[in-house]
Amino acid sequence: MATAAKKIKLSSSSSSDENKTSITDFMNEIQKKREDTAESILNFDFNKKRVRIISQEQLVPDYCEGIVYWMSRDSRVQDNWAFLFAQKLALKNEVPLHVCFCLIAKYLDASVRQFHFLIKGLEKVAAECKKLNISFHLLEGSGADALPQWIIDHNIGAVVCDFNPLRTPMGWLEGAKKKFKKDVPLIQVDAHNVVPCWVASDKQEYSARTIRSKINSKLDEYLTEFPPVIKHPYTSKFEPEPIDWDKAIETREADKTVGPVEWASPGYDEAMKTLKSFLDKRLKIFASKRNDPTQDALSNLSPWYHFGQISVQRVALCVQKYKKQYTESVNAYLEEAIVRRELADNFCFYCEHYDSIKGASNWAQKTLDDHRKDKRTHIYTLEQLANAETHDDLWNSAQLQMVKEGKMHGFLRMYWCKKILEWTPSPEDALKYAIYLNDHYSIDGRDPNGYVGCMWSICGIHDQGWAERAVFGKVRYMNYDGCKRKFDVNAFVARYGGKKHKYVAKK
Ligand SMILES: Cc1cc2nc3c(=O)[nH]c(=O)nc-3n(C[C@H](O)[C@H](O)[C@H](O)COP(=O)(O)OP(=O)(O)OC[C@H]3O[C@@H](n4cnc5c(N)ncnc54)[C@H](O)[C@@H]3O)c2cc1C
Repeated sequence: MATAAKKIKLSSSSSSDENKTSITDFMNEIQKKREDTAESILNFDFNKKRVRIISQEQLVPDYCEGIVYWMSRDSRVQDNWAFLFAQKLALKNEVPLHVCFCLIAKYLDASVRQFHFLIKGLEKVAAECKKLNISFHLLEGSGADALPQWIIDHNIGAVVCDFNPLRTPMGWLEGAKKKFKKDVPLIQVDAHNVVPCWVASDKQEYSARTIRSKINSKLDEYLTEFPPVIKHPYTSKFEPEPIDWDKAIETREADKTVGPVEWASPGYDEAMKTLKSFLDKRLKIFASKRNDPTQDALSNLSPWYHFGQISVQRVALCVQKYKKQYTESVNAYLEEAIVRRELADNFCFYCEHYDSIKGASNWAQKTLDDHRKDKRTHIYTLEQLANAETHDDLWNSAQLQMVKEGKMHGFLRMYWCKKILEWTPSPEDALKYAIYLNDHYSIDGRDPNGYVGCMWSICGIHDQGWAERAVFGKVRYMNYDGCKRKFDVNAFVARYGGKKHKYVAKK
């Protein structure tokens, strides 16, 4: 294997001392902006449209001795509307503020790689909370199982949670709603999207074209500066249970052979470093080079976005400042990070079949069905795909990039997934394999963007019909020659070392 293939190529940040100082300045500047916005959330006009009351009860009971922020999708302290809303309630009621993260043993196809990123990020959140006199609690089990008794035991008066449109977290929310004490309000705040998912649109949108103006027309109202989460003036009467962070990782039921990656370290500070290096170095070429996997043009922020370790809204505010300098790149980035990303949340929120062929449009279901029996030139097993053992060196290199680095280049994700449709016995198998591989190896996997990316590639959601051909029907097709026209395929293959494997049909 070429030496180049062993190097980690993704950019996150530099650790030189010179850069460290400027990172500190950068982060201090942002903190100053928060402080200039309001002294605290108490003096800030919170946009109530970010909030949904899930419970029947809306009022905090008299016995309240604390407010809980049930943190799940958005594991950060600052620039988090759910955290801010919880602090607002705690300040109003003059009670302590608690953060509870409910950790489950197994989550979809997550490996230790993702649990490590999550849990090490939470360790940093807990340390930041401590400095702000806010107690952080790591509870074992889902929110529906672990929280109901915990809030009784500690006389909690309200629970604020963040928003995730996926089935499993929606199930936890439903469970919590049923099991919580009836006089405790349960309130949800969309802390992940710039325009709250339920405000952006009240229905499943057909494509980026139909949601774009709905989102962009609301940015003046929602793409605004955050006030700070402040040092909490009311101290909890009880200490949180000590947390053994390494043990929390070790005890997950997850594939330990897929471990952490070198280029991306968890936590808000690391995310900010990656953002800073994007603004300094990569944003200027984002518009022109983002579809070239041999160039370093992407933000690479998706791992931190996925775990909510940095707010997309914060990134958008920072990126926007370069609008005059790099107009095309700024527009392209905001289109991806806001419109496309929020379209994915829209799909998963309103379409219960977001990860199944049933979620595709009628035309796509019909065309895939019409071509169900078409002869496939190659058929691979999940194991062959996972081991990058196909006849296609570009596909194998992309797979190796994902396995080694926990992130595949965005352009190749499309090619990679479309080939899985071409090389598996049915669209259902293709979708199952693609989702499994993406969720298992990608740090940013198990995300609405991932389900929508696979559904776009295999069943044409948010896309139109194209010229009909074998296997794909009218679903958009991509091929090796098309990649060769777009970028230096050989350079990418040399970097990741994918080989051409001789095809042997497995019985
Ligand atoms: C088959 C397939 C699987 C995918 N799986 C995932 C996944 O598991 N998790 C994930 O976050 N994204 C996924 N995507 C979408 C996209 O490829 C990634 O968001 C992007 O590669 C992340 O890298 P980045 O942060 O450097 O992106 P950048 O190009 O810097 O973009 C910035 C942000 O914009 C958003 N974005 C970019 N492209 C898209 C898109 N096509 N759809 C929705 N949002 C987008 C992401 O939040 C991304 O972090 C998938 C796409 C496909 C085709």
